[in-house]
Amino acid sequence: MRSYGDGHCDTIVRIYEKGQELFCNDGHIDIQRLKNFQAPLQFFAIWLEPRYYPIAMHQTMKYIEFFYSQIEKNPDYIGHICCYQDVQENIKNNKISALLSIEGGEALEGEISAIHTYHRLGVRSMSLTWNHRNQLADGVAEKDSKRGLTKFGTDVVKEMEELGMIVDVSHLSEPGFWDVYNLARKPFIASHSNAREICDVPRNLTDNQLRAIAEKGGIIGLNLYPPFLTSKKEVKVEDVFRHIDHILSIAGEDFIALGTDFDGIDCCPEEILDVKDMEHILSRIEREFGEQVVEKISSKNLLRVVKEVLCF
Ligand SMILES: [Zn+2]
Repeated sequence: MRSYGDGHCDTIVRIYEKGQELFCNDGHIDIQRLKNFQAPLQFFAIWLEPRYYPIAMHQTMKYIEFFYSQIEKNPDYIGHICCYQDVQENIKNNKISALLSIEGGEALEGEISAIHTYHRLGVRSMSLTWNHRNQLADGVAEKDSKRGLTKFGTDVVKEMEELGMIVDVSHLSEPGFWDVYNLARKPFIASHSNAREICDVPRNLTDNQLRAIAEKGGIIGLNLYPPFLTSKKEVKVEDVFRHIDHILSIAGEDFIALGTDFDGIDCCPEEILDVKDMEHILSRIEREFGEQVVEKISSKNLLRVVKEVLCF
């Protein structure tokens, strides 16, 4: 069985909204399919539809409660993690490790103490923005934004590092990214973003950004969303490999991971239907780049960041 680690999925919000279950559902990810891998590590993001922004914390609480209720229904298969020791414990018991993350600092409602509350509730990673401007910074949809981190955004990044939470820069505008880079004392991640040199969309990262993440010891998580892979109509597995090749050449093999965006995307490249098919992708990475590289991409690099940031 192959190891597996994924830095981003939207499964929790999707199944909550559809009234489905984590053990088995009709989306990209469920426990039944995840457990075909060897003790996988899955980040489960809580993302808010913009209509919820006026009640961001209220809605985030509902999703967090739902996340735990689903974990508690399946204690033999999955365990929530707060630190690296929890991951090791799950590996020993052959259980899936679930890391709870938040996508977009809207969930804080501008309140710094909320980051402590979320930490107490077991959240261990947060992306600072989604696509739009919020109290922390601008997202990538704010075109030509010159606005970096706000004072509040700066305070949040500092608190997150202090608490042992992973700062995620996916969706963040470039000035905000460079402010995080200048501020960060620990590895930070782009949990689900690709290379802009290969596919020129604002959600992808420039070569300088890829290098900067590597320099700080973070990871870039490969996103499977076709519009972030290529501008072509038909999107194939080869298009994923062009990003892998490029990120390997710019950032190096220690700083690339998976950030599928499963259950947050409405289409995937051909040959990929769901998390099961990641087995083929990983086998192919092994054939092209060797055993050491596939181990790093499939889980080792993401695990290293979890170990470095969560436990100190
Ligand atoms: Zn996203």
